[in-house]
Amino acid sequence: MTMRERDEPMTDEGCVAAGGVVRPSCGGDAVEGGPIDVDGPRATQQVICVVCEKAWRSTYELTGYSPG
Ligand SMILES: [Zn+2]
Repeated sequence: MTMRERDEPMTDEGCVAAGGVVRPSCGGDAVEGGPIDVDGPRATQQVICVVCEKAWRSTYELTGYSPG
């Protein structure tokens, strides 16, 4: 399986393994994050490639909390 041949920027596993860094399929290395939408234990953030302007959403899950 070659990720470059997919329309998706990368797989979920690949994104998580990269520490949440999304690599656009166009090969660009500059992305821009939008506002984060929190929905219960989950949050999503729209991310846009500044090279080809393709957009997708990163998904986050709550893993705990800390006092502050
Ligand atoms: Zn791009």
